[in-house]
Amino acid sequence: MGEIIDGRAIANEIKEEVKAEVEQYKQQGITPKLDVVLVGDDPASISYARSKGKVSDKLGVAYELHTLPTDTPEADVLQLIERLNGDETVHGILVELPLPKHIDKEKVMEAVDPNKDVDGVHPINRGYIMSGQEGLFPATPQSCVEILLRSGVELQGKHAVLVGRGETVGKPLFFMLLKHNPTMTVCHSRTKDLASFTKQADIVIAAVGRAKMITGDMLKPGAVVIDAGINQAEDGGLCGDVDFDSAKEVAGKITPVPGGVGSMTTALILKNVLKAIKKQQG
Ligand code: NDP
Repeated sequence: MGEIIDGRAIANEIKEEVKAEVEQYKQQGITPKLDVVLVGDDPASISYARSKGKVSDKLGVAYELHTLPTDTPEADVLQLIERLNGDETVHGILVELPLPKHIDKEKVMEAVDPNKDVDGVHPINRGYIMSGQEGLFPATPQSCVEILLRSGVELQGKHAVLVGRGETVGKPLFFMLLKHNPTMTVCHSRTKDLASFTKQADIVIAAVGRAKMITGDMLKPGAVVIDAGINQAEDGGLCGDVDFDSAKEVAGKITPVPGGVGSMTTALILKNVLKAIKKQQG
């Protein structure tokens, strides 16, 4: 059976690093602050926003949640973002998605100051991912990269097969991984015979959104398997895009769901708040 990578333990490692750096900022008279904008009453968004608040508290990061009703006009959301952009005590801004249908998501994402965009959604930060420059990058793909690096997985010269090219995970992850010199194959919904690709992979990364679609018989023995998927399982719980039970018998290392990639995203958003301070200081 393969080694199960403990995402929660890696998240704790990152949280300790963030906590120590927050202390240093406080000694310089700066209290790192994250502001989250939540429009509407999507239960998942409410729960994500709360969890960011809790972790911020633990790490000494100031946190403010701006809750707006579902029918808030787009102009009011943009006005709030503009105010937060101009507020020097606010270092990170994150708008919870999805937004209500009457609000143009792209317009809102573009309104956030790229130097405060801790969710890595602004086109300028997207561009930095491609150009290899330091920017604020989205937490989920970052989490996949951190898991690989902190688990001591060699990437250079290895064959990494990325399943999924979505805007949130797959596409940014492609560029973020490529920096570490693996040979990369990207598969998607039009890929013919997916298993023929995954079977060649030293590293398989799943970012699809289809419960348990990658099974053990689709893997090369000893492969490292990183599962970014979050899906509803038949029993009502959460499961990944990888069929964990069959895959763990073949994989060399594998992330579980829950307890893998998703466990690290809040810690990485707070790490981005610290990176944002550096960007704001130039
Ligand atoms: P998208 O829906 O944007 O992209 C899904 C990708 O999977 C697309 O590229 C699509 O192909 C591909 N795909 C769909 N069906 C198949 C198939 N049968 N075979 C191969 N590829 C297929 O997803 P996101 O990028 O938004 O998210 C990906 C996963 O990550 C989801 O499970 C989501 O829940 C999870 N997620 C996890 C987070 C976390 O914190 N852990 C945060 C955000 C997302 P095509 O491009 O051709 O349509």
